Amino acid sequence: METKTALVCGAGGFIGSHLVKKLKKEGFWVRGVDLKKPEFSETAADEFVVGDLRDQLLVQSVLDRPFDEVYQLAADMGGAGYIFTGEHDADVMHNSATINLNMAYYGNKAGIKKIFYSSSACIYPAYNQLDADNPKCCEDSAYPAEPDSEYGWEKLFSERMYLAFHRNYGLDVRIARFHNIFGPEGTWRGGKEKAPAAMCRKVAEAANGGEIEVWGDGLQTRSFLYIDECLEGVRRLMDSNFNGPVNIGSEEMVTINGLVDMTAKIADKEIKIKHISGPLGVRGRNSDNGVILDKLGWAPSGKLHDGLKETYKWISEQI
Ligand code: NAD
Repeated sequence: METKTALVCGAGGFIGSHLVKKLKKEGFWVRGVDLKKPEFSETAADEFVVGDLRDQLLVQSVLDRPFDEVYQLAADMGGAGYIFTGEHDADVMHNSATINLNMAYYGNKAGIKKIFYSSSACIYPAYNQLDADNPKCCEDSAYPAEPDSEYGWEKLFSERMYLAFHRNYGLDVRIARFHNIFGPEGTWRGGKEKAPAAMCRKVAEAANGGEIEVWGDGLQTRSFLYIDECLEGVRRLMDSNFNGPVNIGSEEMVTINGLVDMTAKIADKEIKIKHISGPLGVRGRNSDNGVILDKLGWAPSGKLHDGLKETYKWISEQI
C-alpha cells in the first residue's frame, strides 16, 4: 500500500504538534509548516518547514504535491488575554484570513485530496451565550451571526470560504469548531495561555492555603476538551463523508471557580480565589454534541478531571 501524505499547517503549535505525532503513528508521511518549531518537544514530522503561510510563494512551495490530507490549523491566536482585549484585532483578522485565503486557493490549485479547517466555538452568537447555565452552541445556531470577537468573525468568514471552494471547485473540505482544547505541551504562560493551563500554573505556583487570581466572578461557564479526544474527533471527521461544520468539544460544563477547585484538589492544596477584573468573553459556553454523534457515531466522553490531572502534572514539571 502506498504511504499516505499529510501537510500540517501550524505544526509548531499545540494541537498541530500533537496531530503530527498521531499521523506518524498512523503511518502517514508528514510535512509540518509553522513560523516556529514546537516549543516543548521535537517535531515528529518527516519534514518541517519554518515559514510564513501568509507568504504566497511559501504556500506554493509547501504544496508541491497533491497531498492526501491537509490540516490547516495555523492561526494568530491565544487565550482570552490575547483575543478579547481588542488590542490584537487587526493582526488576528489579517494574519489568519491571509493564511486561509492562501491555503484554499493554492491547495485547490495543487489538487490536494482533502483539507481540514479548524474553526472555533468563538463563532457562536454572543446573544445565545448570556446565560451561564444555558448556553446554546448547536451548529445551526451560528446565524444570524454575532461572534463576540474579531477572532470569531475571521473563523466564520474562513468556514464560508472553504465551503464556497467546496461548492464551486469541488475542494473536499472538513470543518470542525473546536471548543477549548487543552493538555500537556500547550502554552502555559506568557499571555496566550487558556484557562486550564493558566489555572494549573497558578495553583502549581501557589503555596498550600494560598490565593490565586481569577478574572471576573468565576461564575462564567465553559467546557474543556482534552487533546487526545480532539484529535480522535479530527481523524474520524477526516475519514467520514461529512463536511461539517461540526462541534468538537466536551459537554461537561464547569464554572471557572469549579475549574480552580478541581485543579486545587488534584494538586492536594487549599486555594482561595481572588476575583479581579479581566477580559472575559461570553458568559456561558458548552459544546452541543448532537451533530457529531449523529454524523460520526461518536462523541467525546472523557472526564475533565482526567485530562486536567495530566495537564497539571506536566505544567508543575515545567515550573
Ligand atoms: P497555537 O497557537 O498553539 O497554534 C497555531 C500555530 O499557528 C502556532 O504555532 C503559530 O506559530 C502558527 N502560525 C501563526 N501564524 C502563522 C503564519 N503566518 N505562518 C505559519 N504558521 C503560523 O494554537 P492551537 O491551540 O494549536 O490551535 C490550532 C488551531 O485550532 C487554530 O486555528 C485555532 O484557532 C483553533 N482552535 C483552537 C482552540 C483551542 O482551544 N486550542 C479552540 C478553537 C479553535
